[in-house]
Order: sequence, then structure tokens, then C-alpha cells
Amino acid sequence: MRPIQMVDTHSQYLAIKSEVDTAIHDVLDSAAYINGKAVQQFTQSLGQYLNVKHTIPCANGTDALQIAMMALGLEPGDEVITPSFTYIATTEVVALLKLTPVFVEVDPHTFCIDPASVRKAITPKTKAIVPVHLYGHAAPMEAIMAIAKEFNLYVIEDNAQAIGCDYTFSDGTTKKTGTIGTIGATSFYPSKNLGAYGDGGAIFTNDDQLAHQMKMIANHGQQKRYYHEVVGCNSRLDSIQAAVLNIKLKKLDEYNAARQKVAAFYNHAFANHPAVITPFVASYSTHVYHQYTLQLKGVNRDELVAYLAAHQIPSMIYYPVPGHRQDMFAAFGLKEMVLPITDELTNSVISLPIHTEMNKEQLNYICLNVLNFLNK
Ligand SMILES: *Cc1c(COP(=O)(O)O)cnc(C)c1O
Repeated sequence: MRPIQMVDTHSQYLAIKSEVDTAIHDVLDSAAYINGKAVQQFTQSLGQYLNVKHTIPCANGTDALQIAMMALGLEPGDEVITPSFTYIATTEVVALLKLTPVFVEVDPHTFCIDPASVRKAITPKTKAIVPVHLYGHAAPMEAIMAIAKEFNLYVIEDNAQAIGCDYTFSDGTTKKTGTIGTIGATSFYPSKNLGAYGDGGAIFTNDDQLAHQMKMIANHGQQKRYYHEVVGCNSRLDSIQAAVLNIKLKKLDEYNAARQKVAAFYNHAFANHPAVITPFVASYSTHVYHQYTLQLKGVNRDELVAYLAAHQIPSMIYYPVPGHRQDMFAAFGLKEMVLPITDELTNSVISLPIHTEMNKEQLNYICLNVLNFLNK
């Protein structure tokens, strides 16, 4: 059996090797390493795929979130509501910009931001909400957008884990996640559903003015070379990464379907087992399974992780410490704050290997071992 990995980017590469190698060599020959043709092509193709007016490539997903927040003209002390149960990048940029992160609860089924909790957290200082489409499932955008409208707030979607996910509104219309809020941000980190062979990110918006502002900010605050209008940063997607992404974008739906097959296999194996809850999929969302995450009930998680590791099966805890308890936010004095659902999930979730190159033999082996442990 091929060794089992959380993500197998190398096997995926081998399946597209000749196409990728040619594209990379084309960039090398073009000498347009920054902002070359591949970047322009990818930017256009991604915008078409997502059906969004403006796509701005940048250096990584964290920068994408930061540039989005910089463009909104938020002032130090302004409050930004985010889930505590997310990857640190979502909230780190809030603090970096001297804004105040306000941590709220997630829904225990979808693991995504809870609209009721958002509503309760709103104060006169609230300026923005950052829903995260965690693990590849959409946050409840319709409810979030309604709250944002009512209180005149910006919405920045953290779409780093859910590129390709579809959101269906109650009127039946569908949009890609990342294109619903004021701004969407994503990452092309190698292990993401659309991953480069290095770092990369992008920002999306349908707002012309914001797009203009974000393009400037990502490029040292300039529109015209050497005339710097605002304080920005240097955040670029390089041409080699864009050339890789051009190839992989064409396969994104296929890749997400492969992940869905893996998830269906796991769901079937673990269905109705009293010790685990399999991932929930809300009627408004598809699930692109950036992660396949189980909730354990009355199971010693550390022992399960060790048991799997002893059988050469990797597993991960996303995320072992919620944002509000991280040392980096100690100045906000939130460590004692109780978010019962977040705390419960932090202690009970476990993510199993999921990627586009898994085979039945590997899946059978993982399921067998998980069930052996649970039924001990
Ligand atoms: C990966 C990720 C990011 C950051 O992306 P980078 O490209 O690593 O900077 C932000 N938010 C979430 C939810 C992520 O999973």
C-alpha cells in the first residue's frame, strides 16, 4: 500500500507532470517572472470561474485578508467579528492592523460562524464581520449578509479552505463562496484545494472602487510607478505559481469531486456509529472537504491519534487552541472568555487524511483501524 499522507501533493503533481513542467519552463524562458502572462491569464480564468468582477492576485492568503482589511479604511480600535474556531491567519491580521478582534461562536454542526452569536457581539464600534468557510463548507452567508446590511458592516469572506464551494440562497440563486461578501480572500498554499507549488493568494470583489484600492495597496500604494498614494505593501503572485495554478484551476472541480468521494467513503464507514459525528452539509452549501473532520463523542482523542500513528495513519487536530485563548491575543484579556461550542470542538475534533489521490485500499485501511479503535 502506498504510504498514507494527510495531503499527497507529490502524487497529484505526477499526474500532471508533463503539463506543469512545460508551463514552468515557458515562464523560465519568458523571463517574466513577476506579473507575466501566466499571472494575467490565471487572474482572468479565476475571475471567470468564480463569476466575480475583480480578482487581485497576491502573495498568500494572509496578505489577501490583510489587504482586504486595509482597503476598507478601518481605524485602530474598530471591532471585527470573527469566529474563534479558525486558522490563526483570519484573526492575526485584525490585530496586526490594530483593530480589535471580537471572537464569536460557531455552529456545532457546520463549524462555521453562528449568526446569532454575531448579532449579540455587535457594538457601535463594529465595522466588519469575517466569516470563514471552514473545512470547505460555506458559512451561513445569507444570514450574515442580512446582519451586515442591517448594521451597515463590511463582510470579508475567508475562503482559503473552500474554493469551488457553491452557496445557494433561499431564492434558488447560487454563488461561489468568496464572491458574496464585500470582499473575499483565498490562499493557494500547496495543501489547499487549489494549491500552487509555493505561496499564493487572491482577493475578490464586485466593487470597482475597492478593487482599485486593493490593487494599489498590494503594489506599494501606487497606481503610477513611483507615485505612492497610500501606504501599502508588496504582495505579488509570481508567474511560476500562476502557471501551475492555470493548469490546476482547470482540474479544480475534478479535484473537489475526488475529495467528495473520499468523504462519502468515510461517511458510509462511520454512519450511525455512536462515538463519532460525521461532517454535516447544510442545504445551502456544497462541501469541498478541504478537511474531513469528525467530532468524537466519549473517545480519548490522544489515544486515537496515537493508535492511528502506530498504524502509519496520520491525523490532525484543526485547531487545538481557539483564537481567543492564544497568547498572541493576551492583551485583549480573553483567555477566560467561555465559548462552549468552540471549546467543545477544540477538544473533540479530529481530521483524517483527505486528498485527490487516495485509493480504496488506503481508505479501507484507515476506516478499519478507526473502527477497530472505536469498538475496542
Ligand atoms: C490557509 C489559510 C489562511 C492563510 O493562507 P496563507 O496562504 O497560508 O497565508 C487563512 N485562513 C484560513 C482559514 C486558512 O486555512
